[in-house]
Amino acid sequence: MGVHMELRLYDTLTKEKRPFVPLDPKNVRMYVCGPTVYDFAHIGNARPVIVFDVLFRLLRHLYGEAHVKYVRNITDVDDKINDRAARDFPGLPLNEAIRKVTEETGRQFHADVDALQALRPSVEPRATEHIGEMREIIEKLVAGGFAYVAEDHVLFSPQAMNAANSELPRYGALSKRSLDEMIAGARVDVAPYKRDATDFVLWKPSKPGEPSWPSPAGIEVQGRPGWHVECSAMAWKHLGTHFDIHGGGIDLVFPHHENEVAQSCCAFHQSRMANYWMHNGFLQVESEKMSKSLGNFVTIRDLLADWPGEVLRLNMLKTHYRSPIDWTMKSLEESAKTLDDWYRFAADVTPGKPAASVIEPLLDDLNTPQTIAALHGLRNSSDASGLSASLRLLGFLSESAAQWEGRKRQASGVDAGEIDRLIAERAAARARKDFKESDRIRDELAAKGVVLKDGKDADGKPMTTWELA
Ligand code: AMP
Ligand code: ZN
Repeated sequence: MGVHMELRLYDTLTKEKRPFVPLDPKNVRMYVCGPTVYDFAHIGNARPVIVFDVLFRLLRHLYGEAHVKYVRNITDVDDKINDRAARDFPGLPLNEAIRKVTEETGRQFHADVDALQALRPSVEPRATEHIGEMREIIEKLVAGGFAYVAEDHVLFSPQAMNAANSELPRYGALSKRSLDEMIAGARVDVAPYKRDATDFVLWKPSKPGEPSWPSPAGIEVQGRPGWHVECSAMAWKHLGTHFDIHGGGIDLVFPHHENEVAQSCCAFHQSRMANYWMHNGFLQVESEKMSKSLGNFVTIRDLLADWPGEVLRLNMLKTHYRSPIDWTMKSLEESAKTLDDWYRFAADVTPGKPAASVIEPLLDDLNTPQTIAALHGLRNSSDASGLSASLRLLGFLSESAAQWEGRKRQASGVDAGEIDRLIAERAAARARKDFKESDRIRDELAAKGVVLKDGKDADGKPMTTWELA
């Protein structure tokens, strides 16, 4: 790698690409908002997982594995979790039901993202294990005059933040919204205990049966945290008050990330929480917004039934992370063909060094479409060892070429022995001129996605080979 190549990242806050300068190159720190665990993750959720995994791998490549810390939380306190628990386990006490839901969903999430070849983050904190830190932040905010108690809630006041005469950032700076606009656009049915319509919840009382913890700020009833303060607390605990990169999907910019910055900067009296704010664009399916009501809602698990995880991974990286992505069957089929070819050509080859042509576009704000073009370039110039190393750097080629082929057969629901037996039966049927039976066998295999090709072997004898459609 040339000495002049430097990593540049786009920052949502400043709306520009800047050279990435870590606060401490021996301890590069990144926080990404993780899943709320109540159901199978959908393919849109896979986008930040894959995008920030590529960044994690690139940072490890640049700064050394031991010098990068990646934190992705698990949100295990949420109304959606409570609803799910009550619905799925009506006979159990709510707390037990909630534990069942979050443990099971957490396991499913891990299995899915492992299959996508995403490395596990350095730390995966759970919100329920950081209630103490949340209370501490809330106490600091109340003491500093940025938050207040009302009807057993604690509320954060963006007005108080923007009125403070200090080095604090302006509330609204990240999402480019002014507080006046937000007030004008506020709904009419604002909760009566809020002083201003834009105030948001840091802590609220728990209803009977809901998970609950001792409250901060002198509140006597038990309560539970708001969503935004969870991430401020987990980022603080594991990365300190100020770190390098904070990421997530574009939908999180407002209110989630705006509120995280507000909480963290006001609690710790600082001008920034993270130096680079990175957001992936949204994913839609076959040109439509993914939704349960449209019936085009696809889970990672559904897709893994039909495609190896690496195909989903490659397909995701074909689009630049900040652009919207249209997830289509056609594109998936092309990604599968590309990987078939790369596996045959490079999977069993001793890897050399990742090619500069592959790394350079990554350094330019993760330009993965350009990176993929460079991978095709290595293939076309027959650089198998360069392709092998480059693909491995990006989280591909986790299997041998033979395993890859074998898995494809399994995925199609047929096993090779069974196919060979049917081909032999068909040959026998043809030999006795029972064409009805021979056609039946051909159709049976076709229904399983197996296409037969009749030819001749080297001695001119009839021979049938097969491939997957
Ligand atoms: P959630 O569990 O809804 O909080 O989402 C977890 C992560 O997935 C967040 O970073 C979201 O921004 C991201 N996400 C959710 N839906 C999509 C989508 N359709 N496309 C891209 N990212 C998404
Ligand atoms: Zn978050």
